[in-house]
Amino acid sequence: MNPDFLDWPFFEDRHRQLHADLESWCATNLPIDHDDVDAACRELVARLGEGGWLTHSAIDPDSPGTLDVRSLCLIRETLARHQGLADFAFAMQGLGTGALSLFGDAGQQQWLRDTRAGRAIAAFALTEPKSGSDVANIDMTAEAGANGWVLNGEKTWISNGGIADVYTVFARTGDAPGAKGLSAFLVPADTPGLEVAERLEVVAPHPLARLRFDKLRLPSSALIGERGQGFKIAMSVLDVFRSTVGAAALGFARRALAETVSRVTSRELFGGPLSDLQLVQGHIADMATDVDAAALLVYRAAWTKDAGAPRVTREAAMAKLFATDRAQDVIDRAVQLHGGDGVRRGHVVESLYREIRALRIYEGASEVQKVIIARQTLSGGKSR
Ligand SMILES: Cc1cc2nc3c(=O)[nH]c(=O)nc-3n(C[C@H](O)[C@H](O)[C@H](O)COP(=O)(O)OP(=O)(O)OC[C@H]3O[C@@H](n4cnc5c(N)ncnc54)[C@H](O)[C@@H]3O)c2cc1C
Repeated sequence: MNPDFLDWPFFEDRHRQLHADLESWCATNLPIDHDDVDAACRELVARLGEGGWLTHSAIDPDSPGTLDVRSLCLIRETLARHQGLADFAFAMQGLGTGALSLFGDAGQQQWLRDTRAGRAIAAFALTEPKSGSDVANIDMTAEAGANGWVLNGEKTWISNGGIADVYTVFARTGDAPGAKGLSAFLVPADTPGLEVAERLEVVAPHPLARLRFDKLRLPSSALIGERGQGFKIAMSVLDVFRSTVGAAALGFARRALAETVSRVTSRELFGGPLSDLQLVQGHIADMATDVDAAALLVYRAAWTKDAGAPRVTREAAMAKLFATDRAQDVIDRAVQLHGGDGVRRGHVVESLYREIRALRIYEGASEVQKVIIARQTLSGGKSR
C-alpha cells in the first residue's frame, strides 16, 4: 500500500508513527484463523489490548481527554485492510464505550480500564425491532423506582451481543415524546433480567444478537449523563464513530485495489498482462480515484473533529456515505477483474465483497446520510 496519504496535512508525526507501528503489529498478529467467531473476537480483543491499540478506543480514566478521531480512523483503516474481524473487534470497544468516554462519570469510567486493556468486551445497544433508522421510535422502557431503574424491552442487531461484558443501552424514560424521552444506561452483561433471545447470522460473520430485557434492575448510578439526554448521547457517539465506519470501508477498498493491481499485472491474457488492456486500466483508474477521494473525506471529517469542532454531522455523514458506497463499487470491480477466483469462497476479494455490505446499512443507512447532508445543506450550508 502506498502510504503517501500520511503526508497530507491532516496528520501529525504521531499518526505516521502509529500507522507504522500498527502495520508491523498486523504483519505478525493478523489474520487469525478461526471457525468460531465468538472465540476469534475474544482472542482479537485480548491481542489488541495486549498490543496497546485499545487505549485509543476510549479516554483514559486517569487523565480524561478527548478521543483522537484520526487515530481511530487510521487504526480501523489498517485493521480492515488486514482482517475485517480485527477491525470489528477494535471498533466495538470504542462504540460500546463511547457514551462512557463522552458522558460517563468517574465511577462508570472505571469500566474503561478493562475495555482499554482488552479484559472486557463492550457493546452499543440502540436498535430495536421497530426502531432502526427511526431511532427516536424506541419502545424499550426504563422506569424510575425508589432505588434505581427497571428496564423492559428488546434490542436487536447488537454487535457483540452474547459475548459482551458491558452494554450501553438506550431506553425510554418518558420525560417527553420521541427523541427527547430517551436516556442512556450502563448495563453489565451479568445483570439478572438480560437474556440473549436469538443469535443472528450475517454474510460476514461476527457476533450479533437480539437481546431481551425483562424487569432488569439497575442502580441509580447506571444512568449515563442526564435523564432525557439519551438521543443526544447516541448522536454524539455516532458523530465520533461514523467517520470511522468510512475509514473501515476505505481499508477494505485499499485491500481490494492492492489485490487487483497484483492480479492484473501478473495474469497473462491475449499475449500480455491483463493490465495492458485499456478497459482494465479504466477500472484501475476509477478504483484508485475512489480510494483517494474517500480518504480525503474520511480524514477531513476526523481532522475537523480533532481540531475542536463540537459536531461534525455533515462531514461525518459525507465521509460515511461516500467511503462505504465507493468501497462497495471498488470491491465489485476487484471481484470482476479476478474472474472466477473473485467469487471463489475463501478468496480475499470474495470475503471483502461480503464484509463491505453491512457498512452501508449500520450506523445510519446511506439514505439516512443523504437526508442528513441535504438537511444541513438546505439550512444554509453551515457545516454544523
Ligand atoms: C451487521 C450489523 C451490525 C449492527 N450492529 C449494531 C449495533 O452494534 N448496535 C445497534 O444498536 N444497532 C446495530 N445494527 C443495526 C443498524 O444500525 C440498523 O440495521 C440500521 O440502523 C437500519 O435499521 P433497520 O435494519 O431497522 O432498517 P430500516 O430502518 O427498516 O431501514 C431499511 C432501509 O430503508 C431505507 N431507509 C431508511 N431510512 C430512510 C430514509 N429516511 N429515507 C430513505 N430511505 C430510508 C434504507 O435503505 C434502509 O436500509 C447493526 C446492523 C447490522 C446489519
